[in-house]
Amino acid sequence: MKIAILGAGVSGLSLARMLCAGGLALADLTLFEAAAVPGGLCRSKTVDGFTYDVSGGHILFSKDRAVMQWMKDQAGGDAAFVQRERHTKIRFGNRFVHYPFENGLGDLPELAKFECLKGYVEAWHARDKHGTQAPGDFKSWIRWRFGEGIARHFMDPYNEKIWKRPLQELSSSWVAGRVPDAPIDDVLKAAIGVRTEGYLHQASFFYPRRGGFQAITDGMAASLSARIRLSTPVQDLVRAQDGGWRVNGEPFDVLVSTLPLNELPDLIPAMPAGVAAAMRGLAYNSIVTLLVALDRPAHPDLSWIYLPHHEQGPVNRVTYMSNYSPELAPAGKTSFLLEVTFPGGAPVPGAELEREALAGVEGAALLRKEEILFVDRSVCTYAYIVYDHELFARRSAALEWCAANQIQALGRFGHYDYFNSDQCVIAARTLAGTLLERARSG
Ligand SMILES: Cc1cc2nc3c(=O)[nH]c(=O)nc-3n(C[C@H](O)[C@H](O)[C@H](O)COP(=O)(O)OP(=O)(O)OC[C@H]3O[C@@H](n4cnc5c(N)ncnc54)[C@H](O)[C@@H]3O)c2cc1C
Repeated sequence: MKIAILGAGVSGLSLARMLCAGGLALADLTLFEAAAVPGGLCRSKTVDGFTYDVSGGHILFSKDRAVMQWMKDQAGGDAAFVQRERHTKIRFGNRFVHYPFENGLGDLPELAKFECLKGYVEAWHARDKHGTQAPGDFKSWIRWRFGEGIARHFMDPYNEKIWKRPLQELSSSWVAGRVPDAPIDDVLKAAIGVRTEGYLHQASFFYPRRGGFQAITDGMAASLSARIRLSTPVQDLVRAQDGGWRVNGEPFDVLVSTLPLNELPDLIPAMPAGVAAAMRGLAYNSIVTLLVALDRPAHPDLSWIYLPHHEQGPVNRVTYMSNYSPELAPAGKTSFLLEVTFPGGAPVPGAELEREALAGVEGAALLRKEEILFVDRSVCTYAYIVYDHELFARRSAALEWCAANQIQALGRFGHYDYFNSDQCVIAARTLAGTLLERARSG
């Protein structure tokens, strides 16, 4: 059974590793990868001794302990990782507010604290006593869940920055399990100054000691390298008479695609127009990341900081990259990673972005210009899935067509799920089980 895996990101690589571990011959697998190195969104880059994750700071954590261990084992096991406590803050004027925001109300100026608390209690009362249902659009959902004060002081501006569109155009469906949901007692305690944590899910995380997050996908790729065709973009996919697929003219029995669904119509000319339109219409955001190398020996033990407010510039998150592992910066230096999103399909922001980003971060008193050694920039086209109101219908049309035509759709943009890398591995594990069963039954 000849299997083509399109894309050598964490999804394609982990699928290949699991198929081999399950007994499939390596020679039966071919991975097609457009980039010169494997890893996809998990890639990292090193410049003058500073290493950063090109699509935004990545951390390793998972509710599935077996998967997390498997991922660590790919890159050398426990000893190859450092464990860190998550210290995350929100920059609010000249203050640091505990994250999640509703567990940090006590850190706010008095009036903002009052407005947020009042709104939170009103929203809780409406839900708890009157049983109001979660609204379908994200802007209304924020008010339903957090109230007017938190909406205005944090949720609205932060989400407008990251999603780059009016929040009523977004569905509230993606927030389940993603936006922290604190008990009211914790919020009240936090507001009067009793520390409550909230959101313990990623309270501690792992990160590769060396090489950035890419060390994980490098580890996966090592034993597969003979079968990964780098710098080999898939340009042409044609359904074969026998039910298989031809990839760039080469026949395969099974086709697994981790490529963004948005790209498939250009590769499959025979795709029906309605399906092609659905795939092309799937919304996404892109990201620019800026590594800021700093001539500064030490800085607070922070993991990352959210910059929610427009006056803080275009950056939505500053990752304290060199705090993830001491190996990510030369001795005595530190690094920040700034993230700025832009709408998928829009022109890539020019040089003015760097000026605005640095001015915003300096204005928030997180760095001083004199400390900057250099800035390195990366752009990642497919970064965030945008849950607009059309997403579910479009994705269903896309995936139903893939299933009917024997394309195994896998991965964050391959299946259009808001997946972290561990969830990609979990999905790959399920698909590997199915394919191995099929191989066994002949
Ligand atoms: C800002 C941000 C922060 C994140 N933080 C975390 C985190 O902290 N922890 C975590 O676990 N996850 C995190 N993630 C998610 C994680 O990066 C993804 O879930 C994961 O990397 C997706 O892997 P994938 O293999 O599905 O897709 P991709 O990595 O996108 O892989 C697809 C591959 O296909 C290749 N390709 C595309 N077109 C073609 C073509 N025509 N021919 C051949 N190859 C092609 C691409 O080059 C790429 O290598 C984050 C993501 C972002 C954007």
